[in-house]
Amino acid sequence: MATVEHSTTCRACGRDTEPFLSFGELPLANALVPIGTKDESRFPLMMTFCSNCGLVQLAESVDPDSLFRHYVYLSSNSPAFLDHVRILTERLIKERALDAGSLVIEIASNDGYLLRNYRKAGIPVLGVEPARNIAQVARKDGIDTISEFFSIDLAATLRSDGKLADVIHANNVLAHVPDLRGFVAGLASVLKPAGMVVIEVPYVRDMIEKLEFDTAYHEHLCYFSLTPLVALFAKSGLDIFRVERIPVHGGSLRIFARHAGGGASEFSVTQMLSDERQWRVRDPALYRRFADAVEKFRPTLRECLAALRADGKFTRSMDPKEAGFDRSKIDYFAAIKDQLPPLPTGNFKQDLVVFVDGKRSLGKVTFKSLKFSEGVIVQNGNEFKMASVAYVKFARSGTAIMRRKK
Ligand SMILES: [Zn+2]
Repeated sequence: MATVEHSTTCRACGRDTEPFLSFGELPLANALVPIGTKDESRFPLMMTFCSNCGLVQLAESVDPDSLFRHYVYLSSNSPAFLDHVRILTERLIKERALDAGSLVIEIASNDGYLLRNYRKAGIPVLGVEPARNIAQVARKDGIDTISEFFSIDLAATLRSDGKLADVIHANNVLAHVPDLRGFVAGLASVLKPAGMVVIEVPYVRDMIEKLEFDTAYHEHLCYFSLTPLVALFAKSGLDIFRVERIPVHGGSLRIFARHAGGGASEFSVTQMLSDERQWRVRDPALYRRFADAVEKFRPTLRECLAALRADGKFTRSMDPKEAGFDRSKIDYFAAIKDQLPPLPTGNFKQDLVVFVDGKRSLGKVTFKSLKFSEGVIVQNGNEFKMASVAYVKFARSGTAIMRRKK
C-alpha cells in the first residue's frame, strides 16, 4: 500500500512553494487495475511552484518503494532509445578518453540498456537500479548492478568502496527523486575530481509551451528548467557547464556538470539562462497561465473525443472492456507523447495517459490494449490507419495532430 507525503517546501532550495494547478485525486499512473476493482487508492495531484528558485514540483510525494521497486518498463524495448544512448556513450568515450581504468556509473540503469555500450568498449560499469526485477535482467546480461535507490548514503558506501566515477549518467530519474539535494550531493561525492555528470530531464518549458500536462503524474515530482538546476547543483559544489535541448519525452534537457572550479561555463548555459530570464521562468504568472490553458482545454478535448466517438471509427478501435474503462467518462485524454527520434518501430508502451471520470486515471496503457494498431483515426476528414501514424497529440485547438511515420 502506497503512502503519500504532503509538503509545500521546495525540494531544491527549501523555501515555500505555491500551488497553481490541481488535477484532483488520481490513482497512480502506472497502476492499472481490472474493471470492478474497488477501493483503488487515489492521491492528490497538485503542481506547485517555487518563486525563489523557479522549480515546479508536486506537493505530494508517493513513497518510492511503491512506485519503483517493481517497474514494468524495459528501456531496451525501444530501439530508438537504444540508438539515442549509443550515440551519447560513443561521444563520451571519445571526449573523456575512457578506458579499462575508468568507471561509468548509471543511476536508474534499468536493464543495462546504456551501460552495455561501455562494457562492450572494455570500460568498467556499475548500475544502480531499485527495481529488483529489472536489476536482475541487467545482472543476467553481465552488468554489475546494485538494487538500491541512489542517495547520499549509498554514495558514501560507494565512495568508501573506492567506486568513484569518471562519468555518471542519470537519465529521466532526477524528476522522480524526493530528496533532490541529497541526490545531487551524492553525485558530487562519487564523482572523480575530473569526472563528468550527464543528466537528462524533461524540460518544463516544453511542457508549458506545448501544453503537455499529461506529463504531470505522481512519479514526476519535479519539472525542471535550467535556472533552478544550476542553483541546486551549485549547492553541492557542482557546476553545470553545458546544456543541450534534446527532443526526447516531449522535449528534454541534457545537462553536463563537473566539480566547481573547472573553468567558465560554455555559451549554451549562459544563453539558456538568459533565455529563461526573458521567458520569466521565476514569475508565478507564467505557471498560472499554463494552469488556465489546461482548464480551458478540458471542454475542448471532451468535444473532440465526443466527435471522434460519434464518427464511430475511433470507437470501433477501442474496446472498452479490454482497455478497462468507460469511454463515456473520459475527461482528460492526453497525448500519446512524441517518442524518441527517430520514431520507434511500433512499441508504444506507456505512451498514452488517460484521465477518466473527472478524477480517475487509468494511467498509461499501451496501443495494443486499445487496439490502436488495427484502428483508424479521422482528422479533418482524412482517415489514418494507426499503423501509419507515429504519434497522436491532442492540441490546444482540440484537433488531433498526427505525425506520420517517415
Ligand atoms: Zn526553490
